[in-house]
Amino acid sequence: MKIQSVGVIGAGTMGIGLAQNLAQTGHQVTLLDVADRILERAEAEIRKNLRMQNFFSASKSNISLELSTIEILDKIIFSTDYQQLKDVEFIVENATEKWNLKQTIYEKIDEVCPAETIFAANTSAISITRFGSVTQRPDRVIGMHFMNPVPIKPMVEVIRGYHTADATIQSAQTLLRQMGKDSIVVNDSPGFVTNRVMMLTINEAIFILQDQVATVAEIDRLFKGCFGHKMGPLETADLIGLDTILYSIEVLYESFNDDKYRPCPLLKKMVDAGLYGCKNGKGFYTYIQGQKVSD
Ligand code: NAD
Repeated sequence: MKIQSVGVIGAGTMGIGLAQNLAQTGHQVTLLDVADRILERAEAEIRKNLRMQNFFSASKSNISLELSTIEILDKIIFSTDYQQLKDVEFIVENATEKWNLKQTIYEKIDEVCPAETIFAANTSAISITRFGSVTQRPDRVIGMHFMNPVPIKPMVEVIRGYHTADATIQSAQTLLRQMGKDSIVVNDSPGFVTNRVMMLTINEAIFILQDQVATVAEIDRLFKGCFGHKMGPLETADLIGLDTILYSIEVLYESFNDDKYRPCPLLKKMVDAGLYGCKNGKGFYTYIQGQKVSD
């Protein structure tokens, strides 16, 4: 059955891309964050992304450009009020990667939404079973790990929590098909498949930089030239957000009690210094309006 209305919690890097992708594929979207100024920035970002997408053609995107910018933005309600989520069929949560913060959100939406609403966590590393455990509907809680930027990434890692029902997995796959995306379902474990490997790789690349084995540009160029990767690990870290990388590696460290996930001190220092990567203009590289301007 077609899913028509989707709530998107968190209007940061992921929530913006998700709301845009959902609206472009015909869904009614309620995009929720904690402050109006964040939502205003999100609306401006979506407008800019659509302008760029129209300008550069749809060749890289697997979603249609039939709807105009006005029609797409008309499909999105920007709100700070959780009550606005009471009638949506499906929620994708994309708030900051901090368990305590996310726990409060799940408790709140569990109260506001009817029992049949499905909750999907777009977390980088936190166990999906843990989200289910703070709701009265663990069978309707699932992981949907979208990739960044959401509108152009064709694959989503879907995670089955301990209690996730088959019907919930089918609904998630239906929504992803409607969004023009493919998916692979994996079992629950912190970091799942992709980020258990990716976060470790990025963290180790930052240790290599800290040890002065090579420069930022040399590390990234080696991965691109030697392995054919489109981006090196430090460029990828900037794209994801260095704060999100740090929070995710901390989740892996705590979840597995394994030293191999200890966060690199240089990563901690950069986050303390406010260097978050692409989203605020400075990370391993410098960005102006999301475009890299330094090597
Ligand atoms: P971000 O920092 O860009 O955005 C997070 C947003 O959540 C912010 O706008 C913040 O105001 C909002 N928020 C915080 N508390 C909230 C609350 N109580 N209610 C509503 N909104 C709230 O982070 P992001 O990169 O968009 O990541 C969001 C989630 O997606 C994280 O769990 C992250 O691990 C995951 N994720 C990130 C990426 C990536 O590449 N950045 C990829 C996949 C998954």
